[in-house]
Amino acid sequence: MSQLTLEQRKSLEQALRVRSIVLRGEITAALRQQDTPETAHLANRFEETGDDVLADIELSLDIASVERDMGELRSVVEALGRIDSPGYGICSDCDAAIPFARLQAEPAARRCVACQERHEHSHAGGTHSSL
Ligand SMILES: [Zn+2]
Repeated sequence: MSQLTLEQRKSLEQALRVRSIVLRGEITAALRQQDTPETAHLANRFEETGDDVLADIELSLDIASVERDMGELRSVVEALGRIDSPGYGICSDCDAAIPFARLQAEPAARRCVACQERHEHSHAGGTHSSL
């Protein structure tokens, strides 16, 4: 069980929501910059329906900066989905409580610092960095 207080959880949820809005804005702007009918269409759908079109956007775009935003947005959306569950704030590898300070810096973090470093080393050169 997480050691987070309700207030801490709420503030992290707020941070995640703000982050998702920022990321959505960046992704929409990047889509519009492409200035093709397809990306304009995707930008409109993204603004209307949100996460439903994430996969479509990922398929149609091949821009490194957007891919990074997409990966982060996915983590943020995923974290928002589990923030009310007992598993939020618990390291997925070692079951330790992730310190609140780390969650403030990275509300979508799934691992404690030690496990995250081990994870990154074992996936060196991998595709997306997972939070
Ligand atoms: Zn851990």
